[in-house]
Amino acid sequence: MQAMRRVSSNVFVELYFFGCNPGFLVTRDGVVLIDTPQQPIDAVRWRERAVEHGPIRYLINTEPHPDHIRGNAFFPGVEVVGHTGLRTRYLEALPDITGAERRAVLVREDPDSVWLYNHPSYPPNPPTRLFEDELTLQVGDHEVRCIHMPGHTSPQTTVYLPRERAAFTGDNVFFQCKTFIQEADPWQWLEALDRIGQLDVDVIVPGHGEPCDKSYLAEQGQIIRNWIGAVEDLVSRGLTEDDAVKHPLDVQSLDPYPIGQRLFAMNESLDARNVRNLYRRVRARQAQGAAR
Ligand SMILES: [Zn+2]
Repeated sequence: MQAMRRVSSNVFVELYFFGCNPGFLVTRDGVVLIDTPQQPIDAVRWRERAVEHGPIRYLINTEPHPDHIRGNAFFPGVEVVGHTGLRTRYLEALPDITGAERRAVLVREDPDSVWLYNHPSYPPNPPTRLFEDELTLQVGDHEVRCIHMPGHTSPQTTVYLPRERAAFTGDNVFFQCKTFIQEADPWQWLEALDRIGQLDVDVIVPGHGEPCDKSYLAEQGQIIRNWIGAVEDLVSRGLTEDDAVKHPLDVQSLDPYPIGQRLFAMNESLDARNVRNLYRRVRARQAQGAAR
């Protein structure tokens, strides 16, 4: 059922849930969670695993995408830490976290989770401990550094655990699975990868895919550069946004990796969303450059 992996002395990660890679740090004063399983039944099981190691002190979200925040509800009473922009996004996403459409998806795809959905014991749990640039939590004898690193999303946060020589990047890193650029600022993302590379870590826990190390960051950056280059080319050929989205692209040559677990239904629509986002950003950047 689960494949929890110990990635450093006190850090545990689950890699094979449907959704992101949630993890936790164990300290002598309790547990700090990073992100949550999106499927209700996985989230309650994950909570049982975590509390075996002590009371849960904090839950930190790395980004506002549903696969990272939907499970917050199943940690009632646990203070959630996140970037100020993440709180806004959580509240905007409430229909997707508590709405009828999501319930219908669970009925179809995950019947074991339905009884937990919108259960009165599990109200929405948005971030309340907020920060702009950086927030350091002291838990037991561990420093937990939450560092704003916009890229994949604008509130994107890296959780850096110096004593563990580990960092959770959320989806600023997709290890050997397809990179989602549907709303990213790709240039900020490249800067974020540089900053992650400067952290003193042996282990990087990506948002999706196996744990890796800093040697993968160059490849992740190249995938983003490939996408930027491909869309710059479409823009420079004068294609409209809609034509650019329809234009056949050799995506395999930009990003060689398959889409992550159970996401294949999104594969083609993701390409279109990546192109649409990048088209607008490339155009805006060109307009800015011209205005200077
Ligand atoms: Zn994700």
